[in-house]
Amino acid sequence: MDNLKSDIKYVAGVGEARARLLDKELGIRTVGDLLDHFPFRYIDRTRVYRIAEITDEAPTLVQLRVRVTGTAYAGTGRKRRFTVFVQDATGQAELVWFQGIKWIEKRVEVGREYLVFGRPSFYRGQLSMAHPELETMEQYLSRRAESGMQGIYPSTERISTMFGTKGMYQIVCNAWALVRGHIPDPLPEEIRTRYGLIARHDAYYNIHFPQSPELLRQAQYRLKFDELLGVQLNVQSRRTARLAKADGFRFTRVGDAFNTFYNEKLPFPLTGAQKRVIREIRQDTATGYQMNRLLQGDVGSGKTLVALMSMLLAVDNGFQACMMAPTEILARQHFATISRLLDGMPVRVAILTGASKARERREALEGIASGEVHILIGTHALIEERVRFANLGFVVIDEQHRFGVEQRARLWTKNEQPPHILVMTATPIPRTLAMTLYGDLDVSVIDELPPGRRPIRTYHYTDAARLKLFGFMRQQIAQGRQVYVVYPLIKESEAMDYKDLTDGYEAISRDFPLPDYVTAICHGRMKPADKEESMRQFKEGEAQILVATSVIEVGVDVPNATVMVIESAERFGLSQLHQLRGRVGRGAAQSYCILMSGEKLSREARARLEAMCETNDGFRLAELDLKLRGAGDINGTLQSGMAFDLKIANPTADVQVLTLTREAAAAILAADPALAQPAHEGLRELRRRYSGREELDFSRIS
Ligand code: ADP
Ligand code: MG
Repeated sequence: MDNLKSDIKYVAGVGEARARLLDKELGIRTVGDLLDHFPFRYIDRTRVYRIAEITDEAPTLVQLRVRVTGTAYAGTGRKRRFTVFVQDATGQAELVWFQGIKWIEKRVEVGREYLVFGRPSFYRGQLSMAHPELETMEQYLSRRAESGMQGIYPSTERISTMFGTKGMYQIVCNAWALVRGHIPDPLPEEIRTRYGLIARHDAYYNIHFPQSPELLRQAQYRLKFDELLGVQLNVQSRRTARLAKADGFRFTRVGDAFNTFYNEKLPFPLTGAQKRVIREIRQDTATGYQMNRLLQGDVGSGKTLVALMSMLLAVDNGFQACMMAPTEILARQHFATISRLLDGMPVRVAILTGASKARERREALEGIASGEVHILIGTHALIEERVRFANLGFVVIDEQHRFGVEQRARLWTKNEQPPHILVMTATPIPRTLAMTLYGDLDVSVIDELPPGRRPIRTYHYTDAARLKLFGFMRQQIAQGRQVYVVYPLIKESEAMDYKDLTDGYEAISRDFPLPDYVTAICHGRMKPADKEESMRQFKEGEAQILVATSVIEVGVDVPNATVMVIESAERFGLSQLHQLRGRVGRGAAQSYCILMSGEKLSREARARLEAMCETNDGFRLAELDLKLRGAGDINGTLQSGMAFDLKIANPTADVQVLTLTREAAAAILAADPALAQPAHEGLRELRRRYSGREELDFSRIS
């Protein structure tokens, strides 16, 4: 019997109630699940502090060696408290229990020495510990974790209350006793040797009970390797399967729509990079394989045009195309731009968003079902059940990073045969990382901006410079330019943020009075029709100033706008700041980005604002962002959007392991594509285990 699969409730010290809690709070059901619940850090239990050493700077958990000098009860009923007075050569402290008093009181003997372990706090200047762990000297000396490193496990409040500081550790010890010596290794010997990996059994042992820092490192390395290898085996197998199926729509010809547009409608020559990417897409879609392509290009690099020309290619081959944008505003804008560009051509474009009125909705739905509409543009309303395409052949997803990832995938379940997919983003991610995040993808890059763009000048001011800022805005407006003023909108402080925004709007309206100035406002709490009207005013130049939340972050295109003022800029992340800045600098005139912030800034916020002032290069900023935010934070953010559930590997930080596993997976699959060899049974299991979340994967949906 495979002990790793046995129910957690049978582990000593767990039982029904705790098992239910472990499942509910942490999703732990089996012994294997528990062993996959890795410590997130380790504390050194060989270090014994003296009372006088404990100050504000001490670690959050410490161990003391103390003698009990007395005990006391206080309170009654549920407020009952049991205090144990202790001391060492340097001072005195109190240990306090509010629960389990009966149990602890039997174990504490005045005059005896104990090791106590817990979270120090100060109460009226006195060192105090609530519910510490208590060990007699004999227990301490016979303790198993010889290296002294003890894991601290990720927990929840309810788990901590039920299990205490030591409980989780104790249960892992008990679980280990059941499986030790019986943990199979999925990797063939040859791979373990080639990549210098310790046995999986030893990796589990050392991740929970590190025998030395070096063994801990090796354990982490091995477990990361397994995870990423599992992912790579999936990604690569699927890619092979996709290419073998050859069930993609074949776009064999370039026809009237593409050619007429190219020869007669194109408002400017394409950049070399745009041409190259269109060529890549043409080649991909002609092969008979389904295309899965990620297009990365900095803000303003002209991705929309590439999307449009690809969609025309689909139309020329008798297929419909659709384009999904993350916001209403952006969808409307794409619809307007594309309708204008295609004006006079026999290509019908429709729009569908959550805010579409009955007539617009009917036209879109009917036109799409009958095949009369060639290109449908919209928000995630496009993936509603009701939307039925006659023959969808090409899907564009714009500004991908803004989508909740689940939303994406549903789109192409609509066809028996999967359409070609083009995902566009201005947030660059390394290719290998993109594959871990989104599964099996090809990547194209637009690495060139349209000619004649002047680099945007970016400045950082504090509130003290507001008068100067207003003066500058006046000067730009006098030259016929337009200005964005953007306020942060963070979910947690939404009410405050809206207040800041409306206060700001009022102040600006006062300082820039009618009839000389028109200030428009646009935010998420407005009715869609009002938002649209504000955007229209600004786009058509009727309003010189647009006060908005970061809804305008992506995609909005008003080339006459030359100033982007970002209020409370310290509250935005780097990639958001860069996106916002990308709203200006779209015409030939010099553009400016003004970052407004308070006087007091964290070191990180200052670094972000400085980076913005230094460079316009989105790829460089993305790299810096990774560094500044630290891999942990990014991993947390990305994790939710990842196609694969990883417990220990961090694809941003563990790039090296990622690269090695990619190479290893390729070699394994080249020799044994189906992983059918007996020696590869473990690998087959690994691939199954990391097969990922279906709804997040491009290639498996068809
Ligand atoms: P993004 O890649 O950020 O989506 P857009 O597609 O919105 O960028 O394009 C930004 C601006 O550049 C638009 O005003 C667009 O008309 C213009 N543009 C796109 N391609 C070219 C080109 N080849 N030459 C000049 N301007 C271009
Ligand atoms: Mg865009």
